[in-house]
Amino acid sequence: MSLQFTDHVNEFKRLRAEFWNTAGVCEELRAYEARDNDYEYKILKGLVPKPLVGRTNDIGPAWQKSDTFFTDFPTHNDPQRVLSSTERSHIICNIACHDTRLYSSDIDPSSLDKTAAAGMSYMHLLVIPSEKVYNAVSMSNTELITEMKTHFLDFWNRDDSADKVTHAICDAMERRYTEVARAYQRNDNSTAPQRLANLDAVMEECRISATNFANTLRTNRSSADVVLGFHSHPHHSVGHLHMHVVLADPQFRTYSTLAHDWKTLSFEAVEHVLGGEEVELTIPGGWPA
Ligand SMILES: [Zn+2]
Repeated sequence: MSLQFTDHVNEFKRLRAEFWNTAGVCEELRAYEARDNDYEYKILKGLVPKPLVGRTNDIGPAWQKSDTFFTDFPTHNDPQRVLSSTERSHIICNIACHDTRLYSSDIDPSSLDKTAAAGMSYMHLLVIPSEKVYNAVSMSNTELITEMKTHFLDFWNRDDSADKVTHAICDAMERRYTEVARAYQRNDNSTAPQRLANLDAVMEECRISATNFANTLRTNRSSADVVLGFHSHPHHSVGHLHMHVVLADPQFRTYSTLAHDWKTLSFEAVEHVLGGEEVELTIPGGWPA
């Protein structure tokens, strides 16, 4: 969002070349795609944290070493979390809440400023492939991202999309509230009531602005400025391809984080590179075929 098209193209080319020039990357990608849980992953980032391996988050099977939080998403999460599915991709709402006020130092249980962990806009959706695909830099053509974009546009043009989206955003906000309130209790019972009172006051404000955003979105959905983008390795979070879908209008970003704008490369730039470079780029080891 902050860089221009040519800058995005050049940056994506640079990160992609850097990725493919990393020794051992082909072998590691093959292990990841084959769900090899004995492999020692050193290059790929954003797999499930080691302490969670072998454990479950109440829903679905235990996490495996080669998993990410987006691997087999529907089996690890409440089905309600999936807003739309095709055979190849799912649309989900960002896990984090859109409102930075629930991540500020006076609210976050750690008392540290965690605002960068909030969403990038009131509406921050993610389109993820159902197959294991690591990142935009690891792809060799535009086929999958084209499907993901078409999927989103089909969803967005449906009459019930704005309702589904605002509902999911609300859920994410309430989940954040519960998570913070529980952490206060766990961390220090004596300060919990005071912190909880502060949280309730902030939450009240968040609910009011979320309702206003929801009304604005319902009225302006068809004309809303939606941008699609990718975070390229190594500047990504979850090690499973995810396309960010964000409302770009500054009003929808009032309480959201701008901390990731610098690394958000536009869909168009990624599409341009993946669509035109198949012949030009020599991928070491002949990967992928
Ligand atoms: Zn990302």
